[in-house]
Amino acid sequence: MIKKFLVFILLACSFTAFAQRNRDFQIAINDPANVLDAETKSNLTAAFNLQYPIFANADGYRTKRSVVLEVANPETETIKAKAGEIKVNSDWVKGKSLKKINKELWAALAKNWSSYSTNQHKGYKLTFISKDPNLDPTVRQNLIDTYFEIYPTLVKTFNEKSTHDVLFVVDTAYKAVAEASGNRILFSAGYMKAHPTDIDVVTHETMHIVQGYGYSAGPVWLTEGIADYVRYKYGVDNVGSKWSLPAYNEKQSYKNSYRITARFFAWLEQNVKPGLIAKLDEQLRAHQYTEQSWVTFTGKTVDQLWDDYGKNPSVELKYSDKKSK
Ligand SMILES: [Zn+2]
Repeated sequence: MIKKFLVFILLACSFTAFAQRNRDFQIAINDPANVLDAETKSNLTAAFNLQYPIFANADGYRTKRSVVLEVANPETETIKAKAGEIKVNSDWVKGKSLKKINKELWAALAKNWSSYSTNQHKGYKLTFISKDPNLDPTVRQNLIDTYFEIYPTLVKTFNEKSTHDVLFVVDTAYKAVAEASGNRILFSAGYMKAHPTDIDVVTHETMHIVQGYGYSAGPVWLTEGIADYVRYKYGVDNVGSKWSLPAYNEKQSYKNSYRITARFFAWLEQNVKPGLIAKLDEQLRAHQYTEQSWVTFTGKTVDQLWDDYGKNPSVELKYSDKKSK
């Protein structure tokens, strides 16, 4: 009885996962001559449902969600696949096990990337995909090395529940600098080409994974200010990328976000309350942060603290420098 019940739960769970994963992806099988039998079609659909969402998540940017599968015998010996389009050879696919189709479909999808690799070190994993055939191998290696150097420290320091399985995608179609969503960080190929030494983008972006605040946890300036404060404090080579916190001036506000907010945070840690940023980060993640949090931790509102900062903004700053290590 217990065994039966367990099997039922397992089936129910895998069905939910299956249904959720496929919510956004559709396949249409175009087989006008009806050369594929029902079992083959069902295996192809199952393989698509398993592999394509993983591909689309990794592919990153504007990947097509509707896919047409065509039987194209003269064009392919086996299976060919790209975003929105799969082609199979009917002789090859006939009687093929789902396992084999899965494997070959994944291999065909991964061919769309210039490089695809996975690295593991001390319980942390990084999958690295480049869609840029001209990505400098040194930049690629530096991004990977920086992940393994910095991410475990951030996880240990701020949020031990963070994922240990991260995906980096360098995309030519993405035009901003970089962004994090879920466990994936998207890097602009153009930006990395123009700024090959700016490897602490990894520190800022992986901090967003560690933050994992979800929606409406707090203001954006606070999230970004924390990420840049963390880049300042834990970054591996801010000197090498000529990255620094801009000096205070009267036109600034703590809501300016990024480096202006980060310098304010460095000042707060030095002059008001060491450990304040980690406490705010914890509250944001627990969705307990309010404007009152500043008063609870420091006895003053954030506006009062900013006024104090404006009166005496000097702070001793120390930047990481790879060359001096
Ligand atoms: Zn950011």
